[in-house]
Parts: sequence; structure tokens; C-alpha cells
Amino acid sequence: MKYRKLGKSGLKLSELSFGSWVTFNKQVDHNSAEEMFGICLDAGINFFDNAEGYERGKSEIVMGKALKALDAPRDSYCISSKVFFGSKDNPSPTQMGLSRKHITEACHQALQRLQVDYLDLYFCHRPDPETPISETVWAMHNLITQGKVLYWGTSEWSEEEIREAYNFAHENNLIPPSMEQPQYNLLDKERFEIEYDALYKDFGMGTTTWSPLASGALTGKYLNGIPDNSRASLSGYEWLKKSMIESDRGQERMVRVAKLKDYADDLGVNLAQLSIAWCLLNENVSTVILGASKASQLVENLKCIDLLPIFTAEVQEKLRKLS
Ligand code: NDP
Repeated sequence: MKYRKLGKSGLKLSELSFGSWVTFNKQVDHNSAEEMFGICLDAGINFFDNAEGYERGKSEIVMGKALKALDAPRDSYCISSKVFFGSKDNPSPTQMGLSRKHITEACHQALQRLQVDYLDLYFCHRPDPETPISETVWAMHNLITQGKVLYWGTSEWSEEEIREAYNFAHENNLIPPSMEQPQYNLLDKERFEIEYDALYKDFGMGTTTWSPLASGALTGKYLNGIPDNSRASLSGYEWLKKSMIESDRGQERMVRVAKLKDYADDLGVNLAQLSIAWCLLNENVSTVILGASKASQLVENLKCIDLLPIFTAEVQEKLRKLS
């Protein structure tokens, strides 16, 4: 495993990391989580991603229990949470968003659920148009000075919002964000590559990128229907099935996936591994967060690193054209 700096910060994260959205508590119980974390730690992964909103906090409980059982030294790995969506079924106005109150209380609750004393990374899961960015920057700065958070960042904020946060922090001697968590994969490139481009240069922004397989679409498993027990078949995720496969947008994406699958077959490689390894080619990626509902998927996906030598200029050009 190689390690990359989180932007210009001093933190070094494994270039592949592991997250728990959809899977933990829904498809993965704490025994399977323990098995998966064991595989991750053996492979050199040192970053595990979570959020208050994943399974309404239960994903963090599964992660905390499994990591505790493995008893890995706390200073050998990093753990994250994200704040915005809330962890309650019907959150009241103070139980969601990016107010100082909710950011502070959500942090305390995540620490309890994850059974840790501090969060290495803490993200604002979406922008909150109802809270001034200055209030959010102050709340994150305070948590860092209290030792409850080490690095803070954003997820899917616009370039303009991120720039405002950096500028406010710099003008007021506060700790600026260190990273953003955007989607990045062969089907979704524009925000990461174009909208954010100046932020890497201007602020040394790090990135922890999500959905390298576009929720599994880039395995090719949905090209002939929806397999049982796959993400698109899960109750509660009908919206995902619609946007991933059934909508006009989904159908257009599946056409691109089919072409990519044919090309991977021509190259004699696995499309999932090719897709994940492709994300690593971009030097602005600090770490690619993997997702897996089974240990066997994780083992398969970790082997993507072996494919890196395949990316000649010609292969990269062809992938860009097809995707
Ligand atoms: P992927 O796009 O890689 O999708 C992972 C899913 O694809 C798995 O759970 C599994 O679903 C399927 N899959 C993975 N590997 C294989 C394989 N080899 N063969 C067949 N199917 C496979 O990543 P995620 O969407 O899970 O995102 C990764 C992480 O990023 C999340 O856990 C989370 O931490 C973070 N994230 C952050 C977001 C944000 O807004 N900040 C949003 C989304 C994710 P199944 O078996 O059920 O079909």
C-alpha cells in the first residue's frame, strides 16, 4: 500500500481506504465488519469513513464495536464522521445542519458511537445554506482546539463555498478546511477535475473520494438486470435504483458502462479493478474510499493496485473517450 498526503497537510492516508455507506448495519453486521477491517489493516489501509447519517448513526456503532474488537493501536489508523443529515428518524431543526449547536453535539455523539476520544477527520456532509459559513468555520476550529477533531473538511460543497470557508479562516486566523469528499469515478469526473481544479493549487486541498464504482455500476453487474441482494435491489434505496439504472440518466450511464466493460474484456482485466485503479491516476486524489458488502468484494477490489502498470497513455485516452 502506498500513502499519500492529505493535500498540503502533514497527514498521510493509504491511497485506498474503506467506507460504510449503505453497507454497515444493513448488509454488514459487526462480525463481518470485523473481518473486513482485518483485511483492510493487513493490506495497510489506515482510513475508515463514516457519517452520522449512515443508517441513522447505527453504521458508526457497528464500526466502533468492530474496531474495538480488533484492538488495533488508535494511533495507527484514522477514522472520520460527517455532520449535516442528523442521526434521528425525524430530526428537529437543532438536530441537523451545520449550526454551531448541531456540529458540536453531532461530534460528541459520533465519538460515543465510534467509541473513540477524537475524530481524525470531520466533514460537513453537505453545504447548509441556512447557516453562515463563518459560524461553521468557527465551530470546526473550536472542536480542533478542544482536541475532539484533528482535521476538518467539506463534502460536495461548491467551489465558491469552499473558497469562502478558506478565505474566512485565513482572514481570522482560524484553522481552514484540509479536505473535501467528492464523488469521483469514470462516470462522474467534472466537479473533481474541473470545478475544484483551482482549489488544489490555491489552498492545497486534499480529497477523500467516494463511490469509485458509482455504487457498483462500474462492475458491470447491472448490465443484464438487477441481481438479488445488490445495492440497487435494497429496500429504501429505490431512489438509487432509479437514478443509477432506470432514469434517462441511468440508461445513458449504462451505455457507457457497457462500452467500458467490452474494453476491459478486450484488455483481459476486471472492470471493477480497472475503474478503481483509474481513480488513483489523478494526483489530486488523496485516498479512494472503497465500499463492499462482502469480504470477497473487498479482497477483489484491493487487487486493483496490480493493474496500475496497464495505464499507458493510449489506454488512458481510450478510457476517457469511452467514459
Ligand atoms: P462503490 O462505488 O465502490 O460501491 C460499493 C458497492 O458496489 C458495494 O457495497 C457493493 O454493493 C458493490 N461492489 C463493490 N465491489 C464489488 C465487486 N467486486 N463485485 C460486485 N459488486 C461490488 O463505493 P460506495 O458507493 O460504497 O462509496 C464508498 C464510500 O464512500 C462509502 O462507504 C462512504 O464512506 C463514502 N461515500 C461518501 C459520500 C458522501 O456524500 N460524502 C456518498 C457516498 C459514499 P452490493 O454488493 O450491495 O451491490
